[in-house]
Formats: sequence, structure tokens, C-alpha cells
Amino acid sequence: MVHYLIAMGGNLGASASLFQEALQKLSGPETVLRQMSQVFRTAPVGASAGEEFLNAAAIVASELSAADLLRSMQAVEDILGRQRAVRWGPRTLDLDLLLAGETVVETAELIVPHPALWYRSFVLSSAVEIAGDWQHPLLGSPLSALQDRLQESPIKISLEFCTSDLGNDHAAAVFVEDLRTKIPEIAWGGDAVEEEFARVQIFSASAEQLPYSYRIPLPRTRTIPLFVRDYADAMVQLEQLSIAIRG
Ligand code: ADP
Ligand code: MG
Repeated sequence: MVHYLIAMGGNLGASASLFQEALQKLSGPETVLRQMSQVFRTAPVGASAGEEFLNAAAIVASELSAADLLRSMQAVEDILGRQRAVRWGPRTLDLDLLLAGETVVETAELIVPHPALWYRSFVLSSAVEIAGDWQHPLLGSPLSALQDRLQESPIKISLEFCTSDLGNDHAAAVFVEDLRTKIPEIAWGGDAVEEEFARVQIFSASAEQLPYSYRIPLPRTRTIPLFVRDYADAMVQLEQLSIAIRG
């Protein structure tokens, strides 16, 4: 029997009741709902995401392995009609596995802890309400402490260019300058600094490599890989990242 922490998100129609329905469908002889958070309304991340977003979290106790639980979560997403046409676009229902107790899983299909758990305000708000004392097994802090760090001022983020697409060091420096102008709420830097909130690694991506966020090994540190198509895409993704952090 493992206690799992699940995130639910959606922004189309009656997502609040959809969450209840999803948890009902997930429940069965092997899986029992233990707790559900309130439903939080959050600003959408990304221009194509629609009006507003609803998020909630739930704890289930299950005999299933993490991989099997994920499969049943995906079946529930399919039954309740998710729409996946546009990246960052509207979703009727998105179910993510955030934590499997303190177990770490790293396969092609599943990464736990969820790689974006620690820096997304819209995920941590609901997660902390029901699982604030749960430990993040890789970052070594409880979820409540991870949420506290989102309030840091300034939020320092350094960038590492792991692609030559943005050109040479000079181009990278220009990019950081551009970021400072366009997203002044974050203290952007080219070099890693102590006590920084995160280090973003920029890789090049092509559209068919999606989902972009799960293709490199799970970082043990506060590192965020971003797979970008070009300069403009990098800007857009970093803007989305800063919205996700600040809530
Ligand atoms: P996202 O939730 O980041 O918007 P998707 O819901 O489209 O992305 O999930 C894309 C893929 O992520 C799925 O095919 C799934 O196998 C994989 N995945 C890896 N780790 C997890 C996790 N912890 N929870 C949910 N899906 C995961
Ligand atoms: Mg998902």
C-alpha cells in the first residue's frame, strides 16, 4: 500500500465536478481516495490556455504500482475526454502523478517526483494543503518549504545554454539582457549563483520531440530543462516559467 499524491488540472467547463468524477473513476478495490484539496482557480500559463485554470490535488492509497496507477489515470483522462491539440492549450482534464511516497521512479513513461512539482505555484498550492509535510525525496525538503521558496524576493534564475542555436557567448549575454528587460520580476543571470531559485538549461528542440519536459534524466538539483525551437520560443517558455513560479 502506497500513498500517492495526484495533481488535477483543467480549464474547460465544469472542471470542479470533473475532478470528483475523475477520483471516483480512479477508485476501486485497489485504490482508495484519502483526501482531496479545495479547487483552486489559477491564472492560465501560456497565451493559448484559455480563460482560467482549475487545480486540485488528492491523496490516494493504492496497491497499484506507480506505473499501473499512471495507466489508470491516463484511462480516466481518456474517458473524461481530454483535448490535446495545442501544447499548453485547453485541457478538459490533466492528471499528473506528483509523488509516490518517497519513491523515485525514472522510466520512459513515468518520472516521479513530477519534474515540475517544485516550481509550479499552481501545483504546490493545492498539494501543500493536503500534503505540506510530505518530503520531496530528491530535493530533501517538505512541500511546504518548496512553496515558501516561491515567495523569495528576488527570485534568482541562472541560464545555461546547452545548445549552439542561440549562437556564441555574446548572443547568450544579449539574450539574458533581453530577458531582464522583458521579464524584470526575475533576477536573471548568466552564471550560477549561490542560493539561486533555479538553474535553467536551454536545449534545442523540434516539435516532434514533445513532450519536451521529460526527456533528460531527472535532476537531483533545482535544475529546469527547457527545450526551445528558437529565440522567440525560449522567451515565451521563460515567460510561462516565470508565471508558473509567481502564480
Ligand atoms: P503535462 O502533464 O506535463 O502537461 P502530459 O499530461 O501530456 O504532460 O504528459 C505527457 C507524458 O508525461 C505522458 O505520456 C506520461 O507518460 C509522462 N509522464 C512522465 N512522468 C509523469 C508523471 N509523474 N505524471 C504524469 N505523466 C507523466
Ligand atoms: Mg499530465
